[in-house]
Amino acid sequence: MRRIALGDHSSLQIEINAVNPAAVPECRFMGSEKVVGALREAMMMNLNSWSSTATLRENLERVLGRPFPPPPAESHQDESPSYDCGICMGFHLDGASPDYVCANPKCGQAFHPKCLQDWLLSVPTTRQNFSFLLGSCPYCKELVNLAVV
Ligand SMILES: [Zn+2]
Ligand SMILES: [Zn+2]
Repeated sequence: MRRIALGDHSSLQIEINAVNPAAVPECRFMGSEKVVGALREAMMMNLNSWSSTATLRENLERVLGRPFPPPPAESHQDESPSYDCGICMGFHLDGASPDYVCANPKCGQAFHPKCLQDWLLSVPTTRQNFSFLLGSCPYCKELVNLAVV
């Protein structure tokens, strides 16, 4: 089921028949008659042109008599390096961001200090020196010198 916003607090809810997805879906117009009236009328008139071989979008565009806006331009955010924690794979952990970054520039993996600390403590080769943990990066084995959280 999808709901398409039509503006002016109006929307079209489309429920696809799971048993027969190519069939005409159940369509419910919701909201102001001023917005949905003409669309509902267009749908009633054009419903017999619904084609089981066209895509849902093509059918809706044809039946409603108007093109849909194109999908939003693809963002290139995915190309930027990830700063998610290399251990829990998240960004926020109890409000903390992964602000320990591996000193090896070829690695540069970010970690939550807490995640890295737990990992270092689980590794038998980690040494503790006063309030610092001396161990190695889980990714590249670069020396890690982490202040105990
Ligand atoms: Zn983490
Ligand atoms: Zn590293």
